[in-house]
Amino acid sequence: MIVDYHMHLRNARGELAHDTWAIDPFVESAGEAGVDEIGFTEHIYYFKQTRSLWTVPYHTERCLFDIEAYVSAVVTARDRGLPVKLGLEVDYVPGREEETRELLAPYPWDYLLGSLHYIGGLGVDNEPRLVDAVGVEEAWRVYFETLAAAARSGLFDSLSHPDLVKIFGARAAPFDYGALVAAIADSDVAVEVSTAGLHKPVRELYPHPEFLAACHARDIPVTLASDAHSPDLVGRDFDRALELLGSVGYDTVTVFERRRGRQVPLG
Ligand SMILES: [Zn+2]
Ligand SMILES: [Zn+2]
Repeated sequence: MIVDYHMHLRNARGELAHDTWAIDPFVESAGEAGVDEIGFTEHIYYFKQTRSLWTVPYHTERCLFDIEAYVSAVVTARDRGLPVKLGLEVDYVPGREEETRELLAPYPWDYLLGSLHYIGGLGVDNEPRLVDAVGVEEAWRVYFETLAAAARSGLFDSLSHPDLVKIFGARAAPFDYGALVAAIADSDVAVEVSTAGLHKPVRELYPHPEFLAACHARDIPVTLASDAHSPDLVGRDFDRALELLGSVGYDTVTVFERRRGRQVPLG
């Protein structure tokens, strides 16, 4: 089984398209890439229903769409028997856990991704950059501390691009992932192996092999992800992700259904 559990529903021009017809090109592309099942994970901040969670302009400017239309588009495809799952990429906002939970409770998610794109108004992968504001060592410390809190929040089924803080190429090394991996293992959350980083300045998969090996040592389950923002990118570079997973000993991948994960043979 090969899944791609992280993508954003867009038309061929890369525009947001929360319509069920927009799903077919992703399914076709998945078939061509050898991907058995895909999951849509729109950014939570695109929905007007989530407006109260945000303070950063990048988020508040984007709360324009109706979450009902997105959910309905994916659920309609799911009900048609297409191999698609309903997910969401949820920015973790420390201190707003209960509000986040209540906002998302009405919908039939298969899984929720936990992401950190901003911490304290500073961008992990965007301007103004966290790494520039506080330095690399402190950026890594605060990023992974916040990610551990995200894991422990119980809001998420999987952590997306888990070491995103390395995106621009600067790294705190050596870095001890122990406290984070312990938090993840204790929280029954999966970790996403994402090929998106190969196309960023860092030019690496997320997460780093040492991070993933530490996850494997604690039996933390994994998912696979392209983070595609257009249909043609589904399953991109999955040979590299499978190589990494095999190299640290993974032979299963997580399949989610209605927020319950199960392990199936990978490949
Ligand atoms: Zn993301
Ligand atoms: Zn994404």
